[in-house]
Amino acid sequence: MRTGLCNLLLTAVVLIAAPVQAFAAQTVVVDAGHGGSDPGAVGVNGLYEKTVNYDIATKLRQLLIKLGYDVVLTRDSDEYISLAERVDMTARATPALFVSVHANSHTNANVNGSLVLYYDKDYPQESYPATDAMTALSPESKQLASLVLQNMVSEAGFADKGIVPSAAYVIRMGQVPSILVETAFLSNKSDAALLADESVRMKLATGIAKGIAAYLPQALPGGFSDISGHWASDAIVRLKDKGLVEGGIGNRYEPDKPMTRAEWLTIADRLFHFDTLIQSKTANQTVRQTVYGNAETTFKDLNGKHWAYETFRRAISLGYISGYEDGTVRPDQAVTRSEVAALLERMTDGPNSSPWTKAADFTDVPLTYWASGSIYRMKQKGILNGITEKTFAPARSMTRAEMAAMIDRYVAASATKEAKGALTANALKDSTAAKVPVSTANDSK
Ligand SMILES: [Zn+2]
Repeated sequence: MRTGLCNLLLTAVVLIAAPVQAFAAQTVVVDAGHGGSDPGAVGVNGLYEKTVNYDIATKLRQLLIKLGYDVVLTRDSDEYISLAERVDMTARATPALFVSVHANSHTNANVNGSLVLYYDKDYPQESYPATDAMTALSPESKQLASLVLQNMVSEAGFADKGIVPSAAYVIRMGQVPSILVETAFLSNKSDAALLADESVRMKLATGIAKGIAAYLPQALPGGFSDISGHWASDAIVRLKDKGLVEGGIGNRYEPDKPMTRAEWLTIADRLFHFDTLIQSKTANQTVRQTVYGNAETTFKDLNGKHWAYETFRRAISLGYISGYEDGTVRPDQAVTRSEVAALLERMTDGPNSSPWTKAADFTDVPLTYWASGSIYRMKQKGILNGITEKTFAPARSMTRAEMAAMIDRYVAASATKEAKGALTANALKDSTAAKVPVSTANDSK
């Protein structure tokens, strides 16, 4: 029923937008409809709606946690909870959004498909008024409903029955964008059979999760779907902000996966700007061409088709990479922790120049180890850490998380140094004029 009430409400509405914390996980409330003494609809195959709802809700919870959200379930067992309690529980959780999971039923057994309900201020029902917040948030709820339905239909393949304005209690009495998902019809023979299928329920949960993630992408730290709660999460996000790392398929960073030599060199290239270094090292273009020209013929497993080819050519011409004895450079092999220590030192301080002491007592890095100097110098500078107090695991591959933490520490440690570097560059440039004061850089920065 349409009334003039909505106009009144519209003018009174104040939309309360909670400030979004950049990297904190956001909370989603997942409400499994019915439960306990209330079975909900009963399927033509005898399936209880409360059972289907609960299974999809718990699957959805797992998927959302994987995506980096915090999840609150309104019920986590087969128990009766009133609608008012569900709404109160949601308010206490102060979530980013609310999603209620249901299965549908119709007197006409032919009716089938998925639909999503939301409260719409343009279709108010006089006897069922919404909260001011839900009235104000109806465009948000509508957007959420559309994204969830769209993803659910494409994942699970049920007929698309569209998004539907509704005054159902849980979606009109809340304080955050809210939807009620009707996965499929238990009153329809084909839908009910599919709802009884575990793999179909997973597809429905996956579609709902994808829709939520599409609506709330900012919940993911750095936009990555798999680093929330990871020990290196903050470092990874800082590197992402600096453009040093990026996500792969599905915006995954894969923090615990070994980093390849190509990936490591790519980060180093972005950090140290190999091309600029080459230009400053080689006086003329002919020399650069000559050096570059060797790269391809020297290593039998590196050719122009490799995605990191240009980076390798630059690293080779700078003398960072010398390859293995068998004439390979193994771009897709995992880089070891000792190789990283040696390479990072080569890129930053030059080879084995500075004096060093055994800054830590790594039992697995004797002084005779080939990279012991690099490892202890980098440890001394606070850039590399062991995997425990006593061990460094030099021959183990370095994970993408360890790499991020190391680069993050390097960037922080070299902030002062970089300020000095800028000063030097400016001083050189200005020396011809010899007029500009050069004491503008701040070492304590
Ligand atoms: Zn229901």
